[in-house]
Amino acid sequence: MDWDLFVKLYIIFWMFLLGSVMGSFLDCLADRLVDGKSPFHGRSHCNTCGHVLLPRDLIPIISFLVSKGRCRYCKHPIPKECLLSELVMALVFLALGLKIDMDSSLIMYAIFSCVLFTITIIDWKTHIIPNKALVVLLLNRLFFFVFFEGITVNGILQIIIGACCVSVPMLFISIGMDYILKKESMGGGDIKLLFVIGMYMSWLEMLLLIFIACVLALLYFFFISNKDEQAEIPFGPFLSGAWFLVFLFGERFLQWYQSLLF
Ligand SMILES: [Zn+2]
Repeated sequence: MDWDLFVKLYIIFWMFLLGSVMGSFLDCLADRLVDGKSPFHGRSHCNTCGHVLLPRDLIPIISFLVSKGRCRYCKHPIPKECLLSELVMALVFLALGLKIDMDSSLIMYAIFSCVLFTITIIDWKTHIIPNKALVVLLLNRLFFFVFFEGITVNGILQIIIGACCVSVPMLFISIGMDYILKKESMGGGDIKLLFVIGMYMSWLEMLLLIFIACVLALLYFFFISNKDEQAEIPFGPFLSGAWFLVFLFGERFLQWYQSLLF
């Protein structure tokens, strides 16, 4: 068997496992933050009967499937969101393992995706993107830029252009819309989120990202959401989803698109 392939499969297996654990943890963390509880206080327990969960109840994905999605103690259904979180993060980490070599940028993107995932859940539930989480994303990018990539003029320019190319026009558009509509059109949190995501991406990728995010949001609006929901759909989750698609397929898509132009 090809040694490189073996190493890659080994890494991917562990990334998948680690991702599912992170998904479970971050879902719980986001819930506690939304409820205004301390994130690291108390052991994991069933939200219905309060029974403290044992290690065998906490195996990501498997525990949910074995217990058929119900608490083992009170038989109350466990929210499907738990399983979904574990699967989504397992998939994200698996993609990171596939796309990125084993170096510092893998850690940077692992931290990035964990924080982005937490932001997504919180924004979905509360329509608020916490500033503290955005600051973590910003510092994470700067930390790896300064200490691992090395400060270069080109690097600085790339980060600034990526960060501003969509967020700044969006800021002006939203100010204009607010003025015309006489109410808030686009949340300030979304614009700040676009800014920090842009620090990790090229300007072309950012243009693709905002396009995909709008398409996803429109699809959701017209085909999935119900009337009550439509008044206020948070945009953050669509930005996160678009980030993942651009991360996976953006490079290939942009190459193909440029080959059509030139
Ligand atoms: Zn229970």
